[in-house]
Amino acid sequence: MIVDRQGRRFRNLRISLTAACNYACTYCVPDGKRLVAAQDELSAEAMVRSVAYLIEAAGIERLRITGGEPLVSPKLEHFLRETSQLGLQDISLTTNGQLLARKLPLLLECGLKRINVSLDTLDPEDFKRIARGGDLATVLQGLEEARAAGLKIKVNMVPLRGQNHEQVLPMLDYCLERGFELRFIELMRMGHLAREGASFQQQFYSMPELLAAVAEHYEFAQAPAPLDATALRYEIPGHGFFGVIANESVPFCRTCSRLRLSSTGWLHGCLSSSNRHYVGDLLDKPRHQALPALQRLLVRALADKQDVAFAGGATVMKIIGG
Ligand code: SAM
Repeated sequence: MIVDRQGRRFRNLRISLTAACNYACTYCVPDGKRLVAAQDELSAEAMVRSVAYLIEAAGIERLRITGGEPLVSPKLEHFLRETSQLGLQDISLTTNGQLLARKLPLLLECGLKRINVSLDTLDPEDFKRIARGGDLATVLQGLEEARAAGLKIKVNMVPLRGQNHEQVLPMLDYCLERGFELRFIELMRMGHLAREGASFQQQFYSMPELLAAVAEHYEFAQAPAPLDATALRYEIPGHGFFGVIANESVPFCRTCSRLRLSSTGWLHGCLSSSNRHYVGDLLDKPRHQALPALQRLLVRALADKQDVAFAGGATVMKIIGG
């Protein structure tokens, strides 16, 4: 097992199945161009092998499938069917929900128990302006069908000052009424936002502001969460839970256990570092050669983690999936 001086190790793997996405969210894709799959993306088979090797080499226990948008990828079915046989403790998926209703039977068949759906607003016009793709009604329909099918659902919302921050309470009410756990994600200085400090500051809506807005309507108290959780969790007695991923206000680097693999085969040990380590060429090697080489890369990837706080980075979410 590879462990660093702070006792951190890789436990959670997030795989970006594809860079392609059917949205072009303003905070993720600055030029608004629809993202397409990279030409050199790993095949579904190579991705499955990467998960199997990483389980052995790093001790990965939990897998999250992300993107781009994972539900647009033709690799989804093979990848899900195969990785669900690898003995992981948990497999989950982060999606914008646009294709959720259509892909739901496959997700259920492969044994998925929970998903995260990104949704920044319940206002159809704001939705179009922020997501620049898809439509709100289709996402809401997908959410209803997933709920009816018994999936555990978290909803991810990035509150942006002046764009959707007034949706904080409507979104919370919507989620509490349906038993979804809302996760507010503080805007992160990624990609163009790391370069354009003024744009970041203008849009950034902080956890203290957010909690103050919630406190005007609800009483809440902090709830327990796993040690390596990225979200602070709160309970609103009698109503349910919500969380805040406050990478700026309350950094979680000290306990981070995440490892990320891009759709083109690059390992990222830290969202805040632009270092990356290529594993694509290892995946064709036999296990006895691949594992030692992979372990050497994992030592370097673990050393990329920040000691204390997220500092932002040139790496873009659309490549490594958040
Ligand atoms: N397409 C999928 C989705 O929409 O959930 C998966 C990929 S998306 C990059 C994963 C998450 O990252 C989304 O919840 C999105 O809102 C979030 N995200 C993207 N850029 C971000 C940023 N700069 N700060 C905070 N969250 C961001």
